[in-house]
Amino acid sequence: MPDSKPKFKVPRIGFHAPIKGGLHNALLVARDTGCDTLQIFSRNPRGWAAKPLTAADAALFRKVRRETKITPVAIHCNYLVNLAAADELLLKKSRNSFREELQRAILLGADYLVVHPGSARGSCEADGINTCIASIKIGCRRLDLGKLRILLENTAGQGECIGHRFEHLRSIMDGCPKIPLGVCFDTAHAFTAGYDIREEDGLEALIVKLQRTVKTRNVRAIHFNDSRAPYNSRVDRHWHIGEGHIGAEALRRVARHPKLAHAAFILETPYDDPRADLQNLNMLRSFVDNGDA
Ligand SMILES: [Zn+2]
Ligand SMILES: [Zn+2]
Repeated sequence: MPDSKPKFKVPRIGFHAPIKGGLHNALLVARDTGCDTLQIFSRNPRGWAAKPLTAADAALFRKVRRETKITPVAIHCNYLVNLAAADELLLKKSRNSFREELQRAILLGADYLVVHPGSARGSCEADGINTCIASIKIGCRRLDLGKLRILLENTAGQGECIGHRFEHLRSIMDGCPKIPLGVCFDTAHAFTAGYDIREEDGLEALIVKLQRTVKTRNVRAIHFNDSRAPYNSRVDRHWHIGEGHIGAEALRRVARHPKLAHAAFILETPYDDPRADLQNLNMLRSFVDNGDA
């Protein structure tokens, strides 16, 4: 083998970008900070009502995307949607809102819609998983998804949230064989849900677990976050890279793992200071830097 061949495949990196001033602005922010990929909300993430997405908004987004060459583009579903809800009214609103999110993502030409499987409060885990499967099917009914893929995100397991075991995500995928699904692996969620990735053998065990459940090739995006909450706490608190309970060394191993290099690495670290985003991005960039592979 020639020596010039890179020893290490560098993954695409980016962050969750703000949409102030229009969705296309997120692409410009991403380009100006040297991102390859990004994640956005396509609407207010904390309200049921969404400002309609006009054809002009979508056209502008697609045009700027072509110019900036940012890819893949992930949209994170709003936080109110609960695809596993036991409450009838909440479930109905969630399914409508999820469908709207899909339609917006299609219009924008996004690659991924990231969604949490939901909370089964008031019912059991198995019922929650079945409700989530039905919700995804209803949401996608008669929609041409094109290249859009729905990514199920693993959760921290707070409250009665499903999706904190990769087996849950596998069951949902098995329940929707005709719908293009994948996985978004959140490092902070996995850690507080009880997957100890602090040491090398723990990470390897997780990779084996991924392979046996959802398959690593289906992990299309990685929410690359340190955790302010301790191991196995089932608490969801993202934190700056290298300053949390997972730590820089362990996160560096994740960023350089050959079985994950095909995925888009997206930072979702806290937005307390605009400089923090850049610092986190630089940290991730230093992890995947090929210089000392
Ligand atoms: Zn998420
Ligand atoms: Zn989170």
